[in-house]
Amino acid sequence: MKILVTGGAGFIGSHLCTRLLSEGHDVICLDNLYTGRESNLSAIKDNPHFTFVNQDVTSPLNFTGLDRIYNLACPASPPAYQKDSIFTFKTSVLGMINVLDLSLKNGGIPVLQASTSEVYGDPAVHPQPETYWGNVNPIGFRSCYDEGKRAAETIMMDYHRTHLLPIRIIRIFNTYGPNMDPKDGRVVSNFINQALQNAPITIYGEGNQTRSFQFVSDLVEGMTRMMENDQGFIGPVNLGNPEEYTMKELAEKILKLIPESKSKIIYEPLPSDDPKQRKPDIALAKDRLSWEPVVKVEDGLKETIQYFKTL
Ligand code: UDP
Repeated sequence: MKILVTGGAGFIGSHLCTRLLSEGHDVICLDNLYTGRESNLSAIKDNPHFTFVNQDVTSPLNFTGLDRIYNLACPASPPAYQKDSIFTFKTSVLGMINVLDLSLKNGGIPVLQASTSEVYGDPAVHPQPETYWGNVNPIGFRSCYDEGKRAAETIMMDYHRTHLLPIRIIRIFNTYGPNMDPKDGRVVSNFINQALQNAPITIYGEGNQTRSFQFVSDLVEGMTRMMENDQGFIGPVNLGNPEEYTMKELAEKILKLIPESKSKIIYEPLPSDDPKQRKPDIALAKDRLSWEPVVKVEDGLKETIQYFKTL
């Protein structure tokens, strides 16, 4: 098949492109390199079945003969998406519309949207099932991303109802692994790099907030299963690892895996609207996709630490 991956040079996108190439597909990776990095593509850039296009997802998309589109284009770490919040919102919403129109031009091909656990905001229901509508601040610093992704889900559903487009919506919970940008400010990359450099480990707030971390290979498996499911299942479906940790526990876990580190934990102010807890209910993914994460957090962290050691 000929598959377009927008945001394909990003952390998750690069793993997805690699996986699709390994299955024998022709892959077009579209990325404006705003947060995506060409270095993430070094292992696949010379593959004859791979094409890289340096382009913004909101500009006209003129690809023909496509069979599938995975839409991942959007800055995703809080510091990255808040740097230019207007651009983030436009990427999420106008990019989505552009991708859906491209699907129509290609005969109404399946589109998978990388949505996010952020659609649940600071959740009042725990763990979060897909039926929960969320608790999102529409006017805060995280809103460009949270509301942008919610609007993208809305327009997906409207294209589905209006044009019968075969859509797939996944809600991605915190994900980590090789190819994360060491500078994008996410907790796993920050803690590992701080530990490797003997720098203070920066816990925001008191460190009692929780997150659930899935290794990137588990996510990619879930994405491809969702795209290719033959039941016409459109989602939304949560993809995440339900093992939940406080940020304090995560810091301690990482320090244990880097025993030579001389880093000490320090506490910094909590960013505004930082969700207090987050954990996916993955019953739906188990039921409809026979999917659940298989990589243990220690193993995934070890592989990620190895990656950051090579940089
Ligand atoms: N966090 C932290 N120290 C850091 C970076 C992040 O304590 O150096 C916290 C952050 O406040 C949040 C959690 O870790 O509660 C996850 O942050 P991340 O930016 O990775 O993703 P989020 O789930 O907030 O989008």
